[in-house]
Parts: sequence; C-alpha cells; structure tokens
Amino acid sequence: MSEQTVIWDLIIIGGGASGMSAAVSYQKMHQDRLGSFGKVLILEKNDRVGKKILASGNGRCNLSNHDMAMTHYHSHQVTWVESVFRLIDSESVLTFLSDIGIPIASEGNKIFPMSKNSASVVDAFRFALKECEVSLESDCEVDRIDKESDLFHIYSKDANEYSARHIIISCGGACAPNLGTTGDGYKWLSQFGHKVYSPKPSIVQLVTDNSVTKTLSGLKLDCDLSLNSNDMLLAHQYGEVLFTDYGLSGPAVLQVSGVVSRHNRKNGLAIPMTISLKLFNDEDLRSIRAEIGRRISVWGERTLDQLLIGILPGKISSMLLKTALARPLSILIATLSNEDIEKIVRTLKAWKFEVLGTKSLEFAQTTIGGAEVNEFSPETLESKIVPGLYACGEVLDVDGDCGGYNLTWAFASGILAGRSLALHAEDEHMEGEHAE
Ligand SMILES: Cc1cc2nc3c(=O)[nH]c(=O)nc-3n(C[C@H](O)[C@H](O)[C@H](O)COP(=O)(O)OP(=O)(O)OC[C@H]3O[C@@H](n4cnc5c(N)ncnc54)[C@H](O)[C@@H]3O)c2cc1C
Repeated sequence: MSEQTVIWDLIIIGGGASGMSAAVSYQKMHQDRLGSFGKVLILEKNDRVGKKILASGNGRCNLSNHDMAMTHYHSHQVTWVESVFRLIDSESVLTFLSDIGIPIASEGNKIFPMSKNSASVVDAFRFALKECEVSLESDCEVDRIDKESDLFHIYSKDANEYSARHIIISCGGACAPNLGTTGDGYKWLSQFGHKVYSPKPSIVQLVTDNSVTKTLSGLKLDCDLSLNSNDMLLAHQYGEVLFTDYGLSGPAVLQVSGVVSRHNRKNGLAIPMTISLKLFNDEDLRSIRAEIGRRISVWGERTLDQLLIGILPGKISSMLLKTALARPLSILIATLSNEDIEKIVRTLKAWKFEVLGTKSLEFAQTTIGGAEVNEFSPETLESKIVPGLYACGEVLDVDGDCGGYNLTWAFASGILAGRSLALHAEDEHMEGEHAE
C-alpha cells in the first residue's frame, strides 16, 4: 500500500437499491451522532448507479406492499429475515424513501413512487448521495477483496486498489446479469468462509409442454392458476397468464415460479408438476354448461370451432376444444354427447400444462439462494466470521414474492447495515475519546 492510499471509513460494493440505501442511512446517522459525514465510497460496476431500479416494475418501480406478511419472503431462515424487519419495517423504509424525496402512491396493496417512474427514484437517490457527500466510482468492477489485520483491500478489474476499515457487500444476486449482477458477491463471501446456497431463478417464466402454448403465443387470459404435483396443491394465484413459444408467462405465472425453481434439479424437476388454469368461476361454468346444451340444440349444423363463440377468444377456444375432445374442429356441434360436454367443462375448469422447468437466471427478477443469513447478525448485518464486513440485499439468502417485496428487502437491509455501521463508528469515536 502506497503512502498516499486513502483509507475509507466505509466502502460499499454495488450501487443498487441496498447499497445506496446503506450509504445514505450511514451518512445521515453519522452526521446526527458525530456532527459530520464519514468517508464513504461506492464502487459500482455499471456506468451509473441504480440500473436495476430503472428496470423495476416495468419502469414504474413497485417499491413495497401494504401486505407485509412474512409468507411473502423465502429463505433457509425466515425467522432471521423477520428479525431484520422487526428493526427496520416497511413503514421505516417508506419514511426513509419519503425523506429523500420519494413520496408514494398505492394501487391496491402495491406501493409505487408517486411519479410511477423508476428514473425519478434513481434521481432521488443520486441527489441524496451527493448531498450526503458519498463518493462514487462507476465503471469500477471489483474483482478481489482481501483482509489484512483491520483493513480491507479491494482490487478492481482494471487494477485499482482501495482500502477501507469496513465494507458492505451489496452487489446483488445472480439474475439479470445484463444489469450488472453476475453473482460476484458469492465468490468473495465463500472465500471469506461463508456458506452460499447456489443461486436459482425466481419471478421467472415457466417452461411447459408447448404444443398448445406455442400456437397461442402472445395471447393473455385472466384466470385462476394452480400449481399441482399429482393431487397436491403447491401454489395458487389469480391473475393474468400469457401463452408463449416456450410455455407460460404473465404475473400469475411469475408469482408461482419460485416454487418450481426450488424443486428444479440439473436433470429436471424433483417432482412432477402441472399448471392448471381455471378459466371461469363455478357459477359461470354452470351457465356455460347450460349454454353449450342450448347451442347443441339450436346450432346443431354449425362446426365445433364455433361452439364457444362469445365465451372465449377464437384461437383460445379452438385449442381448448382440441385439447378437451381430441377431435377435428370440423365436426358438427350436433354430434356432441353429454360426455363431450363434461369434457369441455372439465377443461374450462382445469386446463392442464405439464411443467418442465423455469427459464434461466438471465430472465429472472430475483435470485433464490445466496449467503447463509445465520452467519450475519440480524441486529447489524455484520458477518459473524469476518468482523467489519457487512452484507445486504439480494446477495443474502432472501427472496420475496412479486409485488415490491424484493425492493423492500433491499432498502430495509441496506438501511440497517448503514445505520448499524454508523452507530459502530460512534462507539469507536467514544472509545477513542476515552482513551485520550
Ligand atoms: C426486470 C426486473 C424488474 C424488477 N422489478 C421489481 C419491482 O418492481 N419491485 C421489487 O420489489 N423488485 C423488483 N425487482 C427485484 C429488485 O430490483 C432487486 O431485488 C433489488 O434491486 C436488489 O437490490 P440489491 O441492492 O441487492 O441489488 P442490485 O439492485 O441488483 O444492485 C447490485 C449492484 O451491484 C453492482 N455490482 C455487481 N457486481 C459488482 C462488482 N463486481 N463490482 C462493482 N459493482 C458490482 C451491480 O452493477 C448493481 O448495480 C426487479 C428485478 C428485475 C431484474
């Protein structure tokens, strides 16, 4: 280390939702307690901070959710995640966001920025970082981290070296690598002796038997979706389903995808799984059954492909009837038996698609797996293995459902890491004063 090497109080690796929250909350608390800002540097691989926030919620950024039941979070240690939220709950996150200029608006349970615009969220963070005198080095891809006595040495891919007394690893998970997240934190944390669960995709499209979905590619339906294994219900969701070349997508499918991913092995799913779409509620199904009976008597000379006109879009109706009856669409409606009617109603009630797996991490919105959380203090997010090292956000083994849960986790864990480090700085300062 040269004589001129700057020693930072804190270096934050990754300028995403959790890293920026950590930087701002550290500086605010530092100023509150010690009357000045600390020396904080963010190292960010991309040319600017917050690229994933920009992509969030289709550019609208679903920040959080009014329903914060812990069932929306997944981890090998959900009680640990709950302990963190007991210290920084979603209300504290929203107060923090409002303080840096991000007022909110609700759509049902979902919480968005009032602007409904992700770029304005990133702008608010950029201004807050500047006002809190956080230094930033973008286009800086961290390659390696060493610890020598009480100092961390961080080496970038372009051979720069940085030194700090404390570091926060906030470089995200391994999904959406085009936005900078390539799982680098897992490598460093493993090297420091942390256990890391291998990453899997969640909030991701499902690959299914595509013989039907391919023909319907691009069409959408609102329906009740169930994910089953044999007769066991694994997950249920009401919402939009999109048919695609490879299988199924859309909000309802993304929401149950984590369950599929958790059962995914290298050689396929550990248990057989089926997606079942219920296109109408029970009352509507009773009227449809009666209507089909009526059509058979008055439209007997029409062909099968016209049976569900006005009930379902044409292409979807044709594929559903083919699946239900396995007969040509050119047969006359008059030839349908009672058993045929039951088969059609059964398919409208449970249109089944065999699940083969999920699309890859590249297409996912969040990562299942990451660093074992029990090896970090839930009060501070400091590593129990490497003093001075903190972690927050998606790099940890925490993933949330679709609906603002992942950003809430990133903000909450970032705020906690930042605040606890600032309190630690205050303790060190007091100790220094007493020693004098
Ligand atoms: C398309 C999409 C839409 C989403 N929409 C929503 C939504 O609406 N609501 C919601 O709650 N969640 C959403 N998510 C998930 C949410 O954005 C993430 O869970 C959250 O941003 C994770 O925050 P983080 O700080 O842990 O990581 P990130 O925000 O991913 O930030 C990590 C940062 O670290 C940087 N980095 C990585 N490696 C290095 C390195 N070696 N050196 C230096 N820097 C590095 C990255 O470039 C990145 O900027 C979405 C995700 C995607 C992909």
